[in-house]
Amino acid sequence: MMQQIKIFSPATVSNICCGFDVLGFAIDNFGDELFISKSNKDVVSIKKINGYSVPNDRKKNTASVAGQALLDYLEISQGFEIEINKNIKPGSGIGSSAASAVAAVYGINKLLDNPLKKEELLKFAMQGEFVSSKTAPADNVASALYGGIILVNNRENYKVVKLPAPKNLFAIVHHPLIEIKTSESRVVLPKSIKLGIASDQLGAVGGFIHSLHTQDFDLMRTSLKDYLVEKYRADYVPFFNEIKSLAKINNTICCSISGSGPSIFTLVNTNEEAQRLKLLFDRVYKSKNLEFNSYITSLNSKGVHVL
Ligand code: ADP
Repeated sequence: MMQQIKIFSPATVSNICCGFDVLGFAIDNFGDELFISKSNKDVVSIKKINGYSVPNDRKKNTASVAGQALLDYLEISQGFEIEINKNIKPGSGIGSSAASAVAAVYGINKLLDNPLKKEELLKFAMQGEFVSSKTAPADNVASALYGGIILVNNRENYKVVKLPAPKNLFAIVHHPLIEIKTSESRVVLPKSIKLGIASDQLGAVGGFIHSLHTQDFDLMRTSLKDYLVEKYRADYVPFFNEIKSLAKINNTICCSISGSGPSIFTLVNTNEEAQRLKLLFDRVYKSKNLEFNSYITSLNSKGVHVL
């Protein structure tokens, strides 16, 4: 039986435009790394955190809380120690808390010789996510666990549908290095919405899902609009309006806020266009002296895996 394991768990974009709380995708080459080893204690504890600062209290870190929830369910008294390379800044809007939680349950399940299937792990990772936000939806966790593009049903036991991702679909993700807490940014959202708005959003989600199956990028461009939340969050996300106008001029498929921001993502259908727009958007952040990271990713990443 393996004693230790190293896991990569990706950063993820959630709220894909029309998919508030239900649609997300994983980023290819950027995420947290967790070293998980068996310990002679009977709980999941945090041994060390490298990189961005997050709580090392085992009851406050999303990784240890998620891992412990899994052990409690399995009624296993074997303990584990976790060292985290925290590469994703917390409060980034690209699933920092979710990446650690997913890595922990995935890695611990592997070290226990896979008593549970991948789809059964999601609810334990969500126990970790709830440490960061009590009302967290499962779109970041599901994207990190499954990779690619996912649709999740938050009401029906987090049922996940893995959607087809066209090969020639690329995302440019810009992450300004400031923190917006999910728990705080939900406060700016309205408690209720008009029926007409709900109907517009429903049409958009349906159109987007169909466009993925048919690889119809015109339909995708028409469908990827957010009638629900973007307008309430736009002013809190630095330079979003500026980047969005540039994206529009360049006829991208969509440009919106990832999660509750401050990260922004843009979809295009060639790698060359992704490279070109990344440089163009980079220039906006540089001209404003705002520190940022930017990535290009295909939408076919494999999600959490062993390194
Ligand atoms: P994000 O969308 O980037 O995950 P959230 O606001 O949802 O941002 O979560 C960040 C909050 O979760 C912070 O308060 C952070 O301290 C807490 N947290 C606890 N453990 C972790 C972890 N392992 N990784 C990231 N954030 C964590």
